[in-house]
Amino acid sequence: MCGIVGYIGTEEAAPILLEGLRRLEYRGYDSAGLAVLDPEQGLQVAKAKGRLQVLADLTGQGQKLTGHMGLGHTRWATHGAPSDVNSHPQVGQKGRIAVVHNGIIENFLPLKEFLLKQGKTFRSETDTEVIANLLEYYYEQENDLMKAVRLTLGRIEGSYALGILCADRPDSMIAVKKDSPLIFGFGEGENFIASDVPAILPYTRSVVYLNDGDMVVFTKNAAQFYDANGTPVRKAPEHIE
Ligand code: GLU
Repeated sequence: MCGIVGYIGTEEAAPILLEGLRRLEYRGYDSAGLAVLDPEQGLQVAKAKGRLQVLADLTGQGQKLTGHMGLGHTRWATHGAPSDVNSHPQVGQKGRIAVVHNGIIENFLPLKEFLLKQGKTFRSETDTEVIANLLEYYYEQENDLMKAVRLTLGRIEGSYALGILCADRPDSMIAVKKDSPLIFGFGEGENFIASDVPAILPYTRSVVYLNDGDMVVFTKNAAQFYDANGTPVRKAPEHIE
């Protein structure tokens, strides 16, 4: 188990993500990373093997990544040794889709073979990079990120909590989960995802515990939830005491 934090709002995302990851350190990890998206700077990724402090130093405590939305991840390696390149976020070949993942993709090998045949290349040994490239593959075909996510979920087997950013969508994020925990946090003009409540407690106590198969597409002001069938559903937030 390890950690995911996502933020979209009006503040600089990176320092919030670093602080959120610190609050998830109790879950254990071997490496950490951030992806921050800004309409002008584009998708910026920083990641490093080792303690969170290494990532904090690398990014000037987050100051070197600019943008009001992003994803943070602490990794506990299952596929590929702890290393900078195997750390998350993992990015699709073209560098426009970034994914953070907790869990294990059991059928990653046949999917990797399929993607290699489609001309996709891989930098890491992770099962997660297969998700990033599969998303990119379907996004190129469909030109619709949500549809690409659905098609990707239809092909991956295993456990996952996923946070997904696309450089073409600098105002929204997508999160999904199956057999790995993920919560959604409602803020005022800002919204969050996290593996666990402590990551977002300084900002909100209003949360939704996502069910297996749930997807949420969210901006800083709104969140749309979908169930495993893709049907839009309403979710009432719970108040954390
Ligand atoms: N299976 C993925 C990897 O090894 C994610 C591990 C995790 O849950 O942190 O990169």
